[in-house]
Amino acid sequence: MLVTIARYSYPYEAHLARSRLESEGIPAYLADEHTINMQWLYSDALGGIRLQVPENYTQQAQEILALDLEQALIEQQDYQGAACPHCGSHNTEYYQFGRRMAFLVFLGLDFPLYPTHDGILCHHCGARSRQEEPAE
Ligand SMILES: [Zn+2]
Repeated sequence: MLVTIARYSYPYEAHLARSRLESEGIPAYLADEHTINMQWLYSDALGGIRLQVPENYTQQAQEILALDLEQALIEQQDYQGAACPHCGSHNTEYYQFGRRMAFLVFLGLDFPLYPTHDGILCHHCGARSRQEEPAE
């Protein structure tokens, strides 16, 4: 039995996700792909392209896609080592609060982006602090 684990509005997104899963040895299938290639404007009405895997691969596939999402979100942030508010060290890295929420939303909606909170993980003192609004 196949289980739908994600939906995509655009064929290239769906193909990327399928390739990713197959590279991990997970058989993955796209449903509704042909219809949407013909008339992709209607993909929302059709519920998008469904990415499906055999039921026993569901959890593994979801974890792989969640990791990829996390990576994409981090890359989008273009983070540059901010000062730790606790000790002032710049030996910090980007840290995200609310990851699990982003993951759940990713599974439930077409739009994978969710406003997670930016934070700083300090390698010097180990503090995890919520970052203020970035000064553009
Ligand atoms: Zn610190």
